[in-house]
Amino acid sequence: MIGLENIVKNFGDLTVLKGVTLAMNEGSVTALVGPSGGGKSTLLRCINLLEIPTSGELRIGNDRIDFQPGKRPATADIQRIRRQTGMVFQNFQLFPHRTAIENVMEGPVAVLKWPVARAREHAMMLLEKVGMAHKADAWPSTLSGGQQQRVAIARALAMSPKVLLCDEPTSALDPELAQEVVDVLSKLASEGTTMVIATHDLRLAKTTAHEAVFLDGGVVVEKGPARQLFSNPEHERTKRFIATLT
Ligand code: ATP
Ligand code: MG
Repeated sequence: MIGLENIVKNFGDLTVLKGVTLAMNEGSVTALVGPSGGGKSTLLRCINLLEIPTSGELRIGNDRIDFQPGKRPATADIQRIRRQTGMVFQNFQLFPHRTAIENVMEGPVAVLKWPVARAREHAMMLLEKVGMAHKADAWPSTLSGGQQQRVAIARALAMSPKVLLCDEPTSALDPELAQEVVDVLSKLASEGTTMVIATHDLRLAKTTAHEAVFLDGGVVVEKGPARQLFSNPEHERTKRFIATLT
């Protein structure tokens, strides 16, 4: 239900994604692993169209865009795809001048034009889901990194995305706080949330992912069931990389 067909992304002369083809099923979690600079963040940003692919095709649900070099798709088409994705960043990126619950309400109120009361109720339900209801009125600066990330996850879920894209969601956190985030993401995984998670965190990948993709140098070197890719990778390059993860 999410399909990438031969996605290429150039930055000037630099080709960062060299024709990536992937399919992600509804309800599945895909771990995106690979060395630094391999293109994981760029790939996530090409799915939510924070970056416009140079060429290739992207499908989310019934929406589909064909990218052509030098041709920017219609804004309405970009918006339609973007609204079906939620993004969680390494550094949380909460709005600092809004409380936790206001962060979660922002999208539904500003974009979906929901009445404030409805957005607040929905936001509270999401904060409960991530174990943050007790901090609904807290300012982001007073929250731990793990707590901020859990609010950021609730905020991303508030728009009911078809896919949740997570870029190194635990890598700014010490192990104990990272575990809180792993717990939340694995709960979402067990509830059938479709996710793509770029990560160096083998614990996160192993506890959440059904599928895994090894991306190196802008190329999918290997993909398959997560268990297999992490315990018994086929390619020499994948083996060497997996051995470096902890
Ligand atoms: P990491 O594990 O360090 O997060 P990554 O796999 O996420 O790495 P990307 O951030 O996608 O890798 O970067 C892939 C390549 O694309 C790098 O060479 C990077 O310098 C380049 N790149 C990314 N964004 C841009 C940009 N906006 N302009 C130019 N080059 C970019
Ligand atoms: Mg990255």
